[in-house]
Amino acid sequence: MALGNPKGNIQLFVTRRCQLRCAYCPVRKADADMSPRTARLGVDFLMRHRSPRLRLDFGGGEPLLNFPVVREAADYAARRARALGKDLSFYMVTNAVALDDEALDWLVRRRVLLELSLDGRRPDHNRHKPALEPGLDPYAATRRGLERALAAGADFFVIAVASPADVRRLADNFEHLYSLGARSFDLSYALGSCWGREDQEAFFDQAGRIIRRHRRALARGELRLGNLSQRNEPTVLSSELMVDTDGSLHLLSEWMFESSGPSRPAPYQWGKVQDGTDINAVYWSRFHCYYTLVRMYEDQPAVRRAVLNNIDFGRRVGRFFAALGEEVHGRA
Ligand code: SF4
Repeated sequence: MALGNPKGNIQLFVTRRCQLRCAYCPVRKADADMSPRTARLGVDFLMRHRSPRLRLDFGGGEPLLNFPVVREAADYAARRARALGKDLSFYMVTNAVALDDEALDWLVRRRVLLELSLDGRRPDHNRHKPALEPGLDPYAATRRGLERALAAGADFFVIAVASPADVRRLADNFEHLYSLGARSFDLSYALGSCWGREDQEAFFDQAGRIIRRHRRALARGELRLGNLSQRNEPTVLSSELMVDTDGSLHLLSEWMFESSGPSRPAPYQWGKVQDGTDINAVYWSRFHCYYTLVRMYEDQPAVRRAVLNNIDFGRRVGRFFAALGEEVHGRA
């Protein structure tokens, strides 16, 4: 395998602020935003990648809360990519609560692929994803964002996250999301929780129901389930390279259990975008992700148990969907 960043993308953590406090969110919130200068340096860092196809991702926190920096970084990246003859795409993880007309219009024109986080019906969604401030109904706000995205023809998929407490309603929640008009989905499971065997089986049972019910639409491509084609499992070892608000570089693995309590420092230091670090010299594998988590939480047995549990469950999830993917798409 050639050395170098194995993925031609980075994720800019443009803010650590968020309007929600999701029960399964691993990210430590703070009143910290990425500056325009740091974002541009992040883009320069990505543009040095030797791949002709690159992707700039925006995450956080809720990236729309620092929308001016998102827009500036993407416009700058598009200019740089054009000058370098690179094929550049954009991706954003969002709760869509702040998806107003101005942002939506820009996202559509820039053809940003949105990963929109909506877990299902109002009771389950709002239990998972409570608002930081009273007066905000997270379900209503995100549903409104989804409906606007649909009406505007935005490129998006819905990520629905199940937790052990509500996994037995996953198929029901999925049908609700389907009824809203979304046709592209990823099914996910809450990381950081320990999934007992019965809850794991319930996840497979519910996912199987969804696939059986929609098999024809899936086979015809009228409905897309990312799990059947491209989702990488176990998620907990499928890391991305992230740029924090201060420009420091991290593996996503370092943050997957960040809110679980204090940890040891990450075993690998990847530098800062301000240092002129060469992205082609930054290399990691699943081994680095695993070692990172094991070392960071070696004093926290409960977190280590969750890490190992999520790896074990993720391997089963990967095998489950791979087998169904062959079955569904083999019959197309
Ligand atoms: S919306 Fe996203 S960033 Fe905000 S708390 Fe939920 S999972 Fe975390």
